[in-house]
Amino acid sequence: MAYRIETKCICGEEHRSDAHPFGAVATPIFQTATFSHPGIGKSTGYDYTRASNPTRAELEQVISSMEGALDTVACASGMAAIGLCLELFEPGSHFVCSEDLYGGSVRIFETVGKTRNLSFTYVNTSHQEQVEQAITDKTKALYIETPSNPTMEVTDLAEMKRLADKYNLLLIVDNTFLSPYLQNPIQFGADIVTHSGTKFLSGHNDTIAGFLSVAREELVEPMRYLYKTVGSGLSPFDSYLVLRGIKTLAVRMERQQSNALTIAKWLQKQKKITHVYYVGLLEHPGYDVNLKQARGFGSMISFRTDTEQTAREMLERVKLISYAESLGGVESLLTYPMLQTHGDVPVEIRESLGITENFLRMSVGIEHIDDLLADLEQALA
Ligand SMILES: *Cc1c(COP(=O)(O)O)cnc(C)c1O
Repeated sequence: MAYRIETKCICGEEHRSDAHPFGAVATPIFQTATFSHPGIGKSTGYDYTRASNPTRAELEQVISSMEGALDTVACASGMAAIGLCLELFEPGSHFVCSEDLYGGSVRIFETVGKTRNLSFTYVNTSHQEQVEQAITDKTKALYIETPSNPTMEVTDLAEMKRLADKYNLLLIVDNTFLSPYLQNPIQFGADIVTHSGTKFLSGHNDTIAGFLSVAREELVEPMRYLYKTVGSGLSPFDSYLVLRGIKTLAVRMERQQSNALTIAKWLQKQKKITHVYYVGLLEHPGYDVNLKQARGFGSMISFRTDTEQTAREMLERVKLISYAESLGGVESLLTYPMLQTHGDVPVEIRESLGITENFLRMSVGIEHIDDLLADLEQALA
């Protein structure tokens, strides 16, 4: 019987006591660029670390196992993985995307993507008719984030799969926000899953990493070929750090999520907070769809303050919580999306999404809930 997800965090598909030399329980860091050959035309299975490395291979296997993917490549960043994903498509390809994607994704689409003659249409993918209307005869894929970043829109993955099949498109999901512990898009028909491994997977705000996972046989070869060709692989040491981080993903996620739900409900009661966006709140418009396709709600909260001044004061006054970009780690962070993650998104688009001067995003960590609430309370006073 297949292991459950908590066990996959520890060892992937199968625990083998002989997996490492000398019975090492932790994965050794194979800090080597090259591997000697046992004979002419022979290989140990590893030749050169740009193409593959045993520490990294173990990490890739764990992610494939958790996501139910055929193969995964570990990249030097989430953006490296997304860049590699774009390389899989012919010039001229068109994509229909969620409108409030991670800002870096919009940036790579509109710059690197455009110069490769790729085009992108952004719609609210929680409304499937908007997605269908945007599909043209050039469309090759749907590119989804659910919940989206930072406005927490939920997209129905089964419905996206239905459209993808109808128009013969690939379904790509950036699964960073819930992590494979809470959501596995391939179960709902996704063909490609991307992750920023920097976030929940690594979990300690100490490593930049990314993953590209594929669920179709015909994508494995091209992905592996491009990967070794462009050289975007994660280093052995960073692979080790992410492997180490994933071991506690399940317990971290549970604590982060329960802290987040308490904070979201507390924020709702504050006079200076005018709106809270958290998928775990019953009144969230995507609550039911999210429950259908995920095992939880994650620990990302966005909220709106009464004035710009309140937002700025909060960012300056938090003490336990850091005013910093990024998310998913054990430390709680407060972000100003307008200036940080979405600083490069064109103003009209940003404002139409509601990412304005009174909009903040919080990544909830594993600190004691009372300490987090006390910090928020003094920052809002
Ligand atoms: C952070 C992030 C990325 C980019 O990942 P990096 O590791 O920072 O390169 C992509 N997508 C989402 C949803 C992210 O949060």
